[in-house]
Amino acid sequence: MSEKLALVTGGSRGIGRACALRLAKEGFDVVINYAGNEEAANKTVEDIKSLGVQAEAYKFDISDNAATIEAINKIVEKYGRIDVLVNNAGITRDGLFMRMSKENWDAVINTNLTGAYNVTQPVIKVMMKQRIGAIVNMASIVGVYGNAGQANYAAAKAGLIGFTKSLAKELASRNIRVNAVAPGFILTDMTKDLDSEKIAEHIPLKRLGTADDIADAVAFLAAGTTYVTGQVLQVDGGLTI
Ligand code: NAP
Repeated sequence: MSEKLALVTGGSRGIGRACALRLAKEGFDVVINYAGNEEAANKTVEDIKSLGVQAEAYKFDISDNAATIEAINKIVEKYGRIDVLVNNAGITRDGLFMRMSKENWDAVINTNLTGAYNVTQPVIKVMMKQRIGAIVNMASIVGVYGNAGQANYAAAKAGLIGFTKSLAKELASRNIRVNAVAPGFILTDMTKDLDSEKIAEHIPLKRLGTADDIADAVAFLAAGTTYVTGQVLQVDGGLTI
């Protein structure tokens, strides 16, 4: 049985990996989920374990409802509880809406928005029994302000923000807090093809963010406060001021 368990979806790489390591430093045992990159997942698990807590990786596609429920039931059976859920896994399939295929629309909505439904519903069952829990959803500034070429992604992230606020209202009486982090441009595999020098010129803090910058915000919302719920914390170097 774990004392405190955090589940981070898409925890093998990028922002999810940084969140997983950061929560391990806060003393959580950590289960990460990933889609297929086993090498990265194993490396993250080893790095978490080296911090002195338990860690394990579960491969499942969060857009697959049955597979997700099955995996989460296994996690609950093994660890007995889930204290923190970070709904982080996400993808992009960018393109102008005029030419956006139904396949690219569905892929992003099914992973980035319905994936959060698939993961959160079985997780809150155990959190409600515990009468304590914290959920952090990984949104994006694009979900607040929109972005040309990302109608599918922006719709999913805006949906996550509505989901966050609604769940915060539904679950507050059970002492479950639900917040979102909305990152700006963060250096990960997802943004590796962008011209970071050019983008940095438009950011008041004159740099792109790091995955650790986002992990700081996630750790605060998940474990550093007990009186913040239903909020969207923009972590973007001032880009949207
Ligand atoms: P990333 O480096 O591309 O990593 C994505 C992670 O999600 C990987 O762990 C991947 O697993 C996992 N994943 C993807 N599809 C999945 C699925 N269907 N089921 C389970 N896991 C899946 O992305 P990132 O930049 O760290 O982004 C993480 C989150 O932050 C996303 O929600 C993204 O939208 C959001 N975000 C990122 C930025 C940015 O600038 N990077 C800005 C705003 C918001 P594998 O390793 O197995 O592929």
